[in-house]
Amino acid sequence: MPPLPTVLLYGIPYVNAAPDALYEHLRASLLAPTSAPTVIFTPNASIAAAAKQDASLTALLCRATLCLPDGIGILAAARRRGTPIRYRLPGIETGEQVLRLAAAYTLPVFFLGAAPGVARRAAARWKQQLPSLPIAGTHHGYFTQSGEQNERILSRIRDSGARIVLVCLGFPAQERWIDQNAPLLPGVQMLLGLGGSFDVWSGEKRRAPTLFRRLHTEWLWRMLCDPTKICRLPAMISFVWHAKDEKRAKSAVKIP
Ligand code: UDP
Repeated sequence: MPPLPTVLLYGIPYVNAAPDALYEHLRASLLAPTSAPTVIFTPNASIAAAAKQDASLTALLCRATLCLPDGIGILAAARRRGTPIRYRLPGIETGEQVLRLAAAYTLPVFFLGAAPGVARRAAARWKQQLPSLPIAGTHHGYFTQSGEQNERILSRIRDSGARIVLVCLGFPAQERWIDQNAPLLPGVQMLLGLGGSFDVWSGEKRRAPTLFRRLHTEWLWRMLCDPTKICRLPAMISFVWHAKDEKRAKSAVKIP
């Protein structure tokens, strides 16, 4: 399977492909599994800004099979830097496509994360929409991510026969959990870090209305719904704004 094209932004290779090309790639990955699972992370500008300040987070994101540009902030930074990324590939929509593939090819899915009851309700809603979707199991995301508790969850996932694991623990917990535990789940072909997706799928939170999505301001909607996220705004703005400086710095190096 040919790799998807990527654009490197602050050391992270973001997929630069249309949603249809991505979904076809995911379908092919699920139908022809390799020895290593497909790991999908979905950084938005707030995550990318944190990674820009911390090399270990950049290295963590780089260990994914695919990093998807989740949000207009990544596209804006890439454009300012002079290396445009054409398509926004939201994690939540990618998760939905993966669930449709799982239903079509009867691949059991485990939902891990969010507050108690939320993953179960999200899975139940999907089962209503896609009756052929095999739900391998669900578990909330408030557990100690090492030691005995984590071991118990790993055993549950292994015993469930899950082929796909959706992980919603927030950044960077979900990326760390996937990075550390994917090798311990030999039957699992694909793991995705999906932030707050279970909250939306369960009906706990509302996804941004169409107008916000059309204007590419889902990030603003999330901040309006959860004002604690407003503190992320300066780092996001600085991340996008300073992308141009990086372009200037790069071209300045080239001139003798
Ligand atoms: N969460 C969790 N365990 C934790 C902390 C958070 O399962 O220890 C869940 C939380 O309930 C929410 C998701 O992780 O469902 C994070 O969603 P959010 O949209 O806040 O993601 P972020 O923007 O932080 O990546």
